[in-house]
Amino acid sequence: MLVERMRSHTSTIFAEMSALALRTGAINLGQGFPDTDGPLSLLADAAANITGGVNQYPPGLGVASLRTAVAEHQKRFHGLDVDPEHVLITTGATEAIAGAILGLCEAGDEVVLFEPYYDSYSATIALAGAVQRPVALRPPTFGFDPDELRAAFSSRTKVVLVNTPHNPTGAVFTAEQLTQIGELAAEFGAVVVSDEVYEHMVFSDDSGGARHVPMASLPGMAERTLTISSAGKTFSVTGWKVGWVHGPPELVAAVRAAKQFLTYVSGAPFQPAIATALGLPDSFYSGLASSLQGKRDLLSDGLRAAGFTVYPSAGTYFVVTDVAPLGIPDGAAFCWRLPELVGVAAVPVSVFCADPELGRTLVRFAFCKRDEVLTEAVSRLAGLKAAVA
Ligand SMILES: *Cc1c(COP(=O)(O)O)cnc(C)c1O
Repeated sequence: MLVERMRSHTSTIFAEMSALALRTGAINLGQGFPDTDGPLSLLADAAANITGGVNQYPPGLGVASLRTAVAEHQKRFHGLDVDPEHVLITTGATEAIAGAILGLCEAGDEVVLFEPYYDSYSATIALAGAVQRPVALRPPTFGFDPDELRAAFSSRTKVVLVNTPHNPTGAVFTAEQLTQIGELAAEFGAVVVSDEVYEHMVFSDDSGGARHVPMASLPGMAERTLTISSAGKTFSVTGWKVGWVHGPPELVAAVRAAKQFLTYVSGAPFQPAIATALGLPDSFYSGLASSLQGKRDLLSDGLRAAGFTVYPSAGTYFVVTDVAPLGIPDGAAFCWRLPELVGVAAVPVSVFCADPELGRTLVRFAFCKRDEVLTEAVSRLAGLKAAVA
């Protein structure tokens, strides 16, 4: 019965792996959700809103206090001048992405994106009847080849979908890379849709580390960029599904036209609570990054000791490994066995790829878990070599 364009998008690996982890009692480092809640003040505010009567349809653009808080946040952290009237609150970043693709792409229009990619991207492009033009990000740095990037553009390119910091690879695009993308978008008259949900999860290393550069902060790019983020990742409330998008009024209007008939509105009691949380002091945001950096190091060291090749993660809460040194030829088959082998779950990078060869032996682990959980996972993984021998 299912329409042809959705047939290759019927299940998500995250649900399947989480179900497998549950069944086997494995530690779930597959799906990327934290195992602790966000700031207490945020939880208390939302609870008070629910019992205090903030439960009916909010305005179509979103609650005014949240749109103002998003604008202030963009100024405070990224130096961006955003008019709250040009901020649209969505049902998570997922709906902002879907609204952008559905509102901007005619059937047959092309969307340039980077693979491996977040799984909703290709499903949404399929829903819109648009065509994806993937550009490979390859290890060890998960950068792109500028010639391959140029070759992905055509007169049919309508949107370039960028995600930095990047899920699943942990790469953080440099200003130079983003400039290359932006120049091609301008040359071909394309809109950039920039998914920045991991904007606060960037790690400072001995080398000085990476820095999050919003696409809209580059010269000339604000006028052709839709910037997307969400409360889910920043405040460890992935189940709340409150996101936002801002950009030039005509682009936001296109997203809104699609969005209002997807969900109309959502999250009435959560929106004002998130508005307040966005104003949390710098220590909250820097604490988030430094805590995750410690977790990244804990898990990365353990994976390396267990025999994986571990690629550096500069941002997000994911680390990508290669299982080839363990004598394993296929990451997907490996992930199906891993819970039974050692009691840990992970996801194969091939499911984030149009070209399965690209991520054949790559496996993604999430480190947004309590330290004791990561320590236990590392000790279980230490037995892997013996288990696969
Ligand atoms: C988690 C995630 C999203 C989805 O965000 P929601 O606010 O939960 O819809 C979007 N993009 C990327 C890259 C993600 O990892």
